[in-house]
Amino acid sequence: MGFQVTDRTRRAAPARSWLWRGALPASIVGALLAGTAAAAPAPREELVIHAGAVIAIPGERTLGPTTIVVRDHRIAEVRAGYVDFPDVPTIDLKDRTVLPGLIDMHVHFSFAPETRLWSAAIDTPEDVALFAFSNAKKTLEAGFTTVRDVGSDGYSIHALRDAVNDGTVTGPRIFLSGTSLSIVGGHGDMSGLNRKTTEALFPYDYTGACTGAVECALRVREAAKYGADLIKITSTGGIMSQQARGLGQHLSDEELVSIVTTAHGLGLKVAAHAHGAAGVTASVRAGVDSIEHGTWLDAETAQAMAKRGTWLVPTLGLLDARKESDASPAVQAKMAEARRVAGQNIRLAVQHKVNIAFGTDAGVSPHGQNARQFRLMVEHGPMTPMAALRSATVDAAALLDQSADLGTIEVGKFADLVAVAGDPSRDITVMERVATVIKDGRIIIHDRR
Ligand SMILES: [Zn+2]
Repeated sequence: MGFQVTDRTRRAAPARSWLWRGALPASIVGALLAGTAAAAPAPREELVIHAGAVIAIPGERTLGPTTIVVRDHRIAEVRAGYVDFPDVPTIDLKDRTVLPGLIDMHVHFSFAPETRLWSAAIDTPEDVALFAFSNAKKTLEAGFTTVRDVGSDGYSIHALRDAVNDGTVTGPRIFLSGTSLSIVGGHGDMSGLNRKTTEALFPYDYTGACTGAVECALRVREAAKYGADLIKITSTGGIMSQQARGLGQHLSDEELVSIVTTAHGLGLKVAAHAHGAAGVTASVRAGVDSIEHGTWLDAETAQAMAKRGTWLVPTLGLLDARKESDASPAVQAKMAEARRVAGQNIRLAVQHKVNIAFGTDAGVSPHGQNARQFRLMVEHGPMTPMAALRSATVDAAALLDQSADLGTIEVGKFADLVAVAGDPSRDITVMERVATVIKDGRIIIHDRR
């Protein structure tokens, strides 16, 4: 990829090639850019969309017939009625509802439900990168133009993110954490294999395991150094990991505070995987930005989250899972326990007005079926269809700190759009059949039935 700085406008947030990580003195970067700017200007890329209805800002009034003009990958005009631009490619979505591109705040592109425990012993990082690319493609074609990848070992997802941002491959824009930080033997640290194999495949200083405030701060700084967009921690045990350490608090209060302080100092948000109430509460107290899952959220913690502005990313996949399949006894026991209270987290969050961002845990659930979560949010929140849509657009963009570029159909934002047949504010399940996907003003799929 080297010195590809030819088309700056294609570069999606977060634009981060190695050039921008401070690897070169500013004067050299400036010279490179000046050289690029002197080349012949690329012709403008334009696209006109005639939309029958537009949910431009989910939660606000739906617009009737509208013309959306895209120039150089961003929304240039939003005009009432159908305006013709004879020389510009135009797509007819007059029988569709157009919405902002969707955002999933909790995916894992490096694995899928069929991934086995021992895959790390077989697959190379190159295998993982290509597998992640195929999962990213399914996700984008389902209408999710932006994701947060919150936990994938190694640097395959970093490579994928950069390749998408460079325009080398087509995929959703990715914000990533890399490896999750956890306690030794916790969720995120490899377990379930014998010690020799574990140490060979996952040397201690390569995993996200840390002990004590100093080492946990070091892990945060390493993640930042090697290109993380956020920090993901596992404050409690996990349901799907091969450890039976329970779902209570794992990282200590001291470790949590160290992680949050260090991350925030570096401008990175902290997403905390937390199931048990004690771990959820400790994470909120330490100042994390989002609670992922929050399975055993209680009323008191929900109130604290609302007060502090801590987000909940309630992954409701368990409500949708059909069987416990071939999980080990330890995992099956945790799944049964979690299933007993499934849905309680989102009910409490709605009741106490906690900020909710859409996230599915795709990877644990199949990639490309992300939109099934809308129906679950409406049924179990209960959330209105508009509130559920907001959580995957306006609100997710806010948690990403990307409201200037993403989350609504407004002039100046990236031209990320999806179109569906029908009115999702009446029937949210139409989101499961997205017909057209446009990302950065480019048509990804069109008129799929
Ligand atoms: Zn997850």
